[in-house]
Amino acid sequence: MPTYVRTDKCDGCKGQDKTACMYICPHDLMRLDKDGSETGWAMKAYNQEPEQCWECYSCVKICPQQAIEVRHYADIVPMGASVQPLRGSDSIIWTIKFRNGTMKRFKFPIRTTPEGSIEPYAGKPKADLSRIDQPGFFNNPDGPVKPGDRSQLIRV
Ligand code: SF4
Ligand code: SF4
Repeated sequence: MPTYVRTDKCDGCKGQDKTACMYICPHDLMRLDKDGSETGWAMKAYNQEPEQCWECYSCVKICPQQAIEVRHYADIVPMGASVQPLRGSDSIIWTIKFRNGTMKRFKFPIRTTPEGSIEPYAGKPKADLSRIDQPGFFNNPDGPVKPGDRSQLIRV
């Protein structure tokens, strides 16, 4: 179920060096065909190796033009149906189109804090780069080996 780009919608992210879909793909699959020499479609993105696609939907969600869709298996989503997300700053809307033309939309919140308000390093000690080659450097500021603490075990 790889992704494909709808050339009628893609605007090549307005000619930026790195398009949104190239930026987000964890498998580096998306490419922008700047002069059309690779696909025949200038300034349109494409999935350069569809069989390697993880179907993670990251590019589908980030594309500002909603130009990327996923080919679904015919036994799961019959021909003509589609699933398309529209991401906002605080929610995502999934539009489900059925083969008979019925359309349903589902909206979900995607965060509980204001955008940009999270401080991932707040309360953490500053890194001591003189210890960067020691084991445990990234998870234990007090020494290379962190002793076990039974109270931290997760119990079900
Ligand atoms: S993110 Fe969308 S609009 Fe931008 S290059 Fe990729 S497919 Fe085209
Ligand atoms: S669905 Fe995921 S793996 Fe496939 S092209 Fe998009 S971002 Fe890359």
